[in-house]
Amino acid sequence: MSGQLLDGKALAKTIKTELAGEVVEFIENNSTVPKLAAVLVGDDAASDVYVRNKRRACEQVSIESELHRLPADTTQEDLLNLVARLNKSIEVHGILVQLPLPNHIDTTKILDAIHPRKDVDAFHPENVGRLSQGRPRFLPCTPNGVMQILHRHEISTAGKHIAIVGRSDIVGKPLAMMMAQKTSHLGPDAANGTVTLCHSRTTDLASVTRQADILVAAIGVPKFITAEMVKPGAAVIDVGINRTEDGLVGDVDFDAVREVAGAITPVPGGVGPLTVAMLMQNTLTAARLQVGCE
Ligand code: NDP
Repeated sequence: MSGQLLDGKALAKTIKTELAGEVVEFIENNSTVPKLAAVLVGDDAASDVYVRNKRRACEQVSIESELHRLPADTTQEDLLNLVARLNKSIEVHGILVQLPLPNHIDTTKILDAIHPRKDVDAFHPENVGRLSQGRPRFLPCTPNGVMQILHRHEISTAGKHIAIVGRSDIVGKPLAMMMAQKTSHLGPDAANGTVTLCHSRTTDLASVTRQADILVAAIGVPKFITAEMVKPGAAVIDVGINRTEDGLVGDVDFDAVREVAGAITPVPGGVGPLTVAMLMQNTLTAARLQVGCE
């Protein structure tokens, strides 16, 4: 029997509709329109698509956006100067620097320069520290998207064994932190997981993933997770986005794994749309912080 399809696209639409209402109320109460500044350096095609999607989402929820498109040979100093300007601007509430940056730029330096109250990607060490202590200011977008998919489909993480494959600062590590907390913004059922964080040095990965009630793949290798690696009935969340000759493919061998899993996200149309919706949520949070209502 095929596992339940966890439709991220439909859920993102629902969340954006809810959010649009909150944005209208915020604008009425504060005479301020939340604004996201996106910075795109170079001409990476995938980054271009991501930024376009994010700006379109802004329009959908009545958040303003501005795009700073810089050439690939932009110096680190010029980029830091732009971030400093955006930090100071009272019109800009959230700042997003699209990754990856060109090799000659120190990504950490740039991300650390973003004001923590405008850090809508939640990459700044202050925000990561707050998250680890269970008192987040912003929730990292992709991990929060994963939490939303599970929560809104009534898949509790409490007491479950969760295997996350991939320990990046953007996905695996913060997600592990969120799922292992005592509670979360979605309540204790969206927390209290027993988390195993796997990576390329994990010994006998399949024996770990086969024990997982919830399996999250954030690896960056097409169809890496096979049916044999999945516990029958498990919820499988595929974060991977891989561009192949067959189009966009996740980290999970979808057709085969769906036959074993209890529930599964597709790629595209799974975690990706939620990531963008959570960025909108964070921009509203940033605007609230800056007008002093949070
Ligand atoms: P990274 O490349 O930063 O991290 C990949 C992780 O996978 C690393 O921890 C690495 O281990 C681990 N890994 C690689 N190969 C193996 C292996 N053979 N066995 C076990 N673990 C392995 O990737 P990201 O976290 O940035 O992204 C992961 C995927 O998610 C990509 O496809 C990316 O495009 C996608 N993504 C999707 C988003 C969305 O919105 N849906 C947002 C962000 C990313 P080690 O640490 O040991 O090297």
